[in-house]
Amino acid sequence: MLQLEYSPEELLKLHIWEIDAVDDEALAQQRARKMRESGGDEFESRYRTQSGRLLDVLVSVRLARLPNGAEVFQCLFRDIGEQKEAARQIEHLAYHDQLTGLANRRLLSDRMTQAISSVLRRDAHIGVLYLDLDHFKDINDSLGHQFGDALLKGVAARLHDCVRAEDTLARVGGDEFVIMLNDIASSEDAAIIAQKIIHNVALPMDVEGEELHITPSIGISICPQDGKDSDDLLKNADAALYLAKQQGRATYRFCTEALHTRSIERLQIERMLRKAIERHEFELYYQPKVNLRDGAIIGCEALLRWNQPNMGVVPPIKFIPVAEQSHLINEIGIWVMHTACHQAAIWQQRGLNLQVAFNVSARQFMRPEELLTALRAALDESRVDPLLIELEMTESLLIDEQSMGEVLQKIRAMGVHLALDDFGTGYSSLSYLRRFPISILKIDRSFVSDADRDPDDAEMVKTIIGMANNLRMNLVAEGIETEGQRNLLCIYGCETGQGYHFSRPLPLAEFEALVVAQRQK
Ligand code: C2E
Ligand code: MG
Ligand code: MG
Repeated sequence: MLQLEYSPEELLKLHIWEIDAVDDEALAQQRARKMRESGGDEFESRYRTQSGRLLDVLVSVRLARLPNGAEVFQCLFRDIGEQKEAARQIEHLAYHDQLTGLANRRLLSDRMTQAISSVLRRDAHIGVLYLDLDHFKDINDSLGHQFGDALLKGVAARLHDCVRAEDTLARVGGDEFVIMLNDIASSEDAAIIAQKIIHNVALPMDVEGEELHITPSIGISICPQDGKDSDDLLKNADAALYLAKQQGRATYRFCTEALHTRSIERLQIERMLRKAIERHEFELYYQPKVNLRDGAIIGCEALLRWNQPNMGVVPPIKFIPVAEQSHLINEIGIWVMHTACHQAAIWQQRGLNLQVAFNVSARQFMRPEELLTALRAALDESRVDPLLIELEMTESLLIDEQSMGEVLQKIRAMGVHLALDDFGTGYSSLSYLRRFPISILKIDRSFVSDADRDPDDAEMVKTIIGMANNLRMNLVAEGIETEGQRNLLCIYGCETGQGYHFSRPLPLAEFEALVVAQRQK
């Protein structure tokens, strides 16, 4: 029943145009024509009630002839308000971020695709601003999620004030926002808006009665020069964001500059890496692996350090990716293998009996013959007991089941143990692991670090431990930093671990001193 709020008598006196809210002359004529041609029509419209409310209606019209020959329209109206509202809600849920009401990644991606095809036909530009709040995690951790959520809403409102109606504002992750500036004249325009955003967001903000200061960092990419599809533009803006963060935060950077800086840095690292082995710039540090119950050191993980004369000690995450891309990792990996086996043999001779693990890159497994030959040589030359050696690799390797199965069997046949590093971050499921001769799982630091605070992570750790015990695999928990984490792991049944709580990775002499001191007690 259509609730137009008129009595039937009142309604009869009204012309249809007085209640139809779609005031479109051309559309009305088009409908009338269609009805005459086909004798009927069905369409959605909106009517205005007597009090001015709008109703969504479905109108079915039929042209009928009265006995006296006159033509009349017979109309049936259906109230489809609820249906329409439900559809609107579903669409809103699918395309918007629930917290801020801004567009989500899907809607952003749709809008970007549309905008890109439009600017490519004209001589126009799109600016993509990738924004991330500086130190948001600290605020969220210290003041709580509810506070963090209120802050994000406040930021969303300020961003809204900085953009035009034709731009798209999206939240794409925890504290990450993307602003697509449609149709800008040049990259200058994007810079001006980025500056305005940084200024506005940085103004003191009242969040639940607290005055707060937060700053954003922004990375910018421009279409078409920095990319012609949404993936490329977002990736490049993200790279620029990284540069902005590195260069002091509360600032913006363009991606052209970021890519340039990054490639120069890479080239420099690669050039210096080529000479590093012959110049004896590599060194292995050793991080104790302990029995979690009594703290006894039972072994160690050898971790690579590069003492670069100009840059100081370069951490692995800076140079290993470069070494992997340039294939230098094969040569470096062989050096690691020989050095670690040699060291393990010396400890064995001194009766220290330490289990020694080292990391092998997925790249090294791409040349299986070279890897097997080098490992055999390292074992033979050092004359170490292979049972003391552990080879750590990452889960991503196991995807290629067929070829990896063979290589791993051959390594296992030499007596060496195989360990799966960073377990839980990759693709493998525990059932899948059964098919490989892997005897040790290393639970990734990310689970361990939150296990004593986050029930989900605790549950995850508990599950991994339970299942690994069923599969009779040895477990090592990585990244234990507190007594609380150690206790929890003990309770759950994990026996071995490593982490700053026990010791950081140490240079050879310091590590040896630690072991000797402990064993003399
Ligand atoms: P990984 O094999 O998972 O090594 C553990 C990393 O966690 C080490 O970082 C270690 O210093 C760090 N760590 C240990 N305990 C704690 C803790 O309690 N808290 C925190 N926050 N961190 C902890 P590092 O030495 O920087 O090595 C990083 C990664 O580089 C290694 O991760 C490994 O994937 C790679 N890597 C290191 N050495 C080699 C190597 O010789 N060859 C290859 N291919 N990769 C290596
Ligand atoms: Mg490792
Ligand atoms: Mg690890």
